[in-house]
Amino acid sequence: MGKKNKNPYDTFCGICGYPLYLWQVGTTLEGLPTDYVMKERVEIEFDVCTECWEGIKTNAGGGMKKAIERKKALKQFDKVGK
Ligand SMILES: [Zn+2]
Repeated sequence: MGKKNKNPYDTFCGICGYPLYLWQVGTTLEGLPTDYVMKERVEIEFDVCTECWEGIKTNAGGGMKKAIERKKALKQFDKVGK
């Protein structure tokens, strides 16, 4: 009889780092992306929670136009409270 594992989680999110149960996994990212800092291809495979996955899909959608709109909205947010 081995020691009982006290860790109830199945995995963790490779973006936010929180532990996850399987039902909280939004996707598994795997592939061979380019690390532009290290200037090399790196093999990845990690789970992503549903919240981070939704954020990736939202932020990747809309192209540059939406990206610039988000930047402008962020600048407006920064001005509040100053
Ligand atoms: Zn996450």
